[in-house]
Amino acid sequence: MRIARAIADLRLDRSRRIALVPTMGALHEGHVSLMRRARQEADLVVVSLFVNPTQFGPGEDFSSYPRAEEQDAEMAMQAGVDVLFAPSVSEVYPRRTTTIQVKGVSARWEGEHRPGHFDGVATVVCKLINIVQPQLTYFGKKDLQQCAVILRMVEDLNIPTTLVFCETIREADGLAMSSRNRYLNPHERETAARISHVLHDLRSKMSSQKLAEDQTSAALLASTADLEAHGIRVQYLALVDSRSFEPLPIPESGASLIFAGYLGSTRLIDNVQIP
Ligand code: AMP
Repeated sequence: MRIARAIADLRLDRSRRIALVPTMGALHEGHVSLMRRARQEADLVVVSLFVNPTQFGPGEDFSSYPRAEEQDAEMAMQAGVDVLFAPSVSEVYPRRTTTIQVKGVSARWEGEHRPGHFDGVATVVCKLINIVQPQLTYFGKKDLQQCAVILRMVEDLNIPTTLVFCETIREADGLAMSSRNRYLNPHERETAARISHVLHDLRSKMSSQKLAEDQTSAALLASTADLEAHGIRVQYLALVDSRSFEPLPIPESGASLIFAGYLGSTRLIDNVQIP
C-alpha cells in the first residue's frame, strides 16, 4: 500500500477500474466493510483519509476529532487498499472560494442541527471524486442523509461515478460503529445500545402493523420519551422518505427512521430502513 500526501503523488493507473472510499480516519470495522467491498468490485482501491474542516461547525469537534494515522494505515493495508490518500488541509483547500450547496435534501435534520455541514461534505466529496476520478465511490448508510445529499449532487452535476451505499456495521449490542463512539465513557457506552434497540423496535412496529397518522406520531413520541428516560437527549427521531429526506406521515416500505442526539457531550446518529 502506498501513502500519498499530495495530489501529484497519486499517479493512478487510469486504465484500471478505480474505487474511492472517502473517510475521516479513526478507522473501524464500518470503514473496513466499505474497503472490502471496494476491493471485490474494483482493481485499484483508493481510501482518502482527511478530517475535513469545512464540514465542522464552530464549537464542534474538528480539533479533537480522533486521529490515529498509523493504526489507520495498518487497517487499510489489511483490507487490501492500494493507495491511502492522506492530504493536508492546504493541499485540499489552497483557497476556499467555491462551495457546493445541495438544496432541499440537505435542509432538515443534520442540515438544521449542523448548519453548513452538508456544504462542507458535498464540496469535499466533489473535490475527492474529481481528484481520484473513480468509477465507483463507496459510502455507508450509517450517514444516510449524507448518502441522499451526495446522490443528489452526483445526479445534479452529472458527476461520472457510480455510488455504492453499504449497510451499517454494528457492535454486538447493536450500536452503530462510529469514530465518535470512543468518546463515550463506559456507562454512556452501555446506554448507547438503547438507540438501535429503540429504532429496531419502531421498525418492527411500523412494518407489522398498519399505523394511522396519529399512531405513527404517537409511536415516535413514545420512543423519544424512552430514549430521554435513558438519559439520551434526542435532537430528532423521525420517519422520512429515504431519498428526499422529507418527513412522512405514515410508514411505507423503503422509508427510514432517523435519529440524532447527545449522550453526555457525544453526538450520535443512527437510522434503520423499513423493509
Ligand atoms: P467517516 O470517517 O465517519 O466520514 O466515515 C467514512 C465512511 O464510512 C462514510 O461513508 C460513512 O458512512 C461510513 N461509515 C461510518 N460508520 C459506518 C458503519 N458503522 N457502517 C458502515 N459504514 C460506516
